[in-house]
Amino acid sequence: MIIYKYARDVGAHLKKIRLSNTLAGFVPTMGALHKGHISLLEQSKAICDITICSIFINPTQFNNPEDLKKYPVTLEQDIYLLESQGCDILFLPGVEDIYPEGLETDKQFDLGYLENTLEGKYRPGHFQGVYRVVKRLLEIVDPTHLFLGQKDYQQCMVINRLLELENFPTELFICPTLREESGLAMSSRNMRLKDDEKKHAAEIYNSLNSVKQKLQPGPVAHLKQEAEEYLRGKGFDPDYVEIADAGNLKTVIEWDGKSGLVILAAAFLGEVRLIDNLLVKK
Ligand code: AMP
Repeated sequence: MIIYKYARDVGAHLKKIRLSNTLAGFVPTMGALHKGHISLLEQSKAICDITICSIFINPTQFNNPEDLKKYPVTLEQDIYLLESQGCDILFLPGVEDIYPEGLETDKQFDLGYLENTLEGKYRPGHFQGVYRVVKRLLEIVDPTHLFLGQKDYQQCMVINRLLELENFPTELFICPTLREESGLAMSSRNMRLKDDEKKHAAEIYNSLNSVKQKLQPGPVAHLKQEAEEYLRGKGFDPDYVEIADAGNLKTVIEWDGKSGLVILAAAFLGEVRLIDNLLVKK
């Protein structure tokens, strides 16, 4: 595995490779890697000739400075894991390289409805930061394929929009959420949970499953209230449980029993904010 710290170096290497029509898969991450991240790497390796991972904790997507400060960093372990799993190139940029003109920028991207709903509502500015960093990374890496996790469902929709708005030819692959045996979605933030909290955190998944099982054509709003109550009863502080159209993330009040749905939740367990979602395909 080759590690690059500078955009110009990784860019020059990849430009050379792309001249021979190599399929280049890209897995952007913020590090503190787990099996979920590795599943994206494996997907890329299965489809592409070369796989590039990046580790960059993007300050512009953190609306809460405390969350940024506490974000887990396990760089040595990450490098070892990527190397042992056959990653070809690791891009490890510094803030100055990703944001050469500074972090502040007036440019706002047109995220439409996605900007202020769900994660956008509870983490103002978050998706502007995600858009900004992924745009910059795609300009540097110029991959043919991009691998993202369904775990961050709304993020996948934002990046899909980015690819359209910026006319990137990159093909987007959304990979399934990897879970612990308990059902808890793997996440770097889980490292901040104590052992007993980790088991308990799977209640988020249970609440989503319970909504999924109870779904019937007709009114569905009561199900999300029930799920929020359930989570409160289990000691969580939920931001939301939502039942939305899987294609556009708009709230579904009455379900026709046919359209694809996604059930999403975000809740605090102590200081740690967890998100998860389940797709309902009929
Ligand atoms: P992060 O490092 O949290 O920014 O995540 C980097 C990528 O890994 C994103 O595309 C995430 O959606 C994806 N990812 C995070 N957790 C999981 C998981 N449990 N299963 C599959 N992909 C995941």
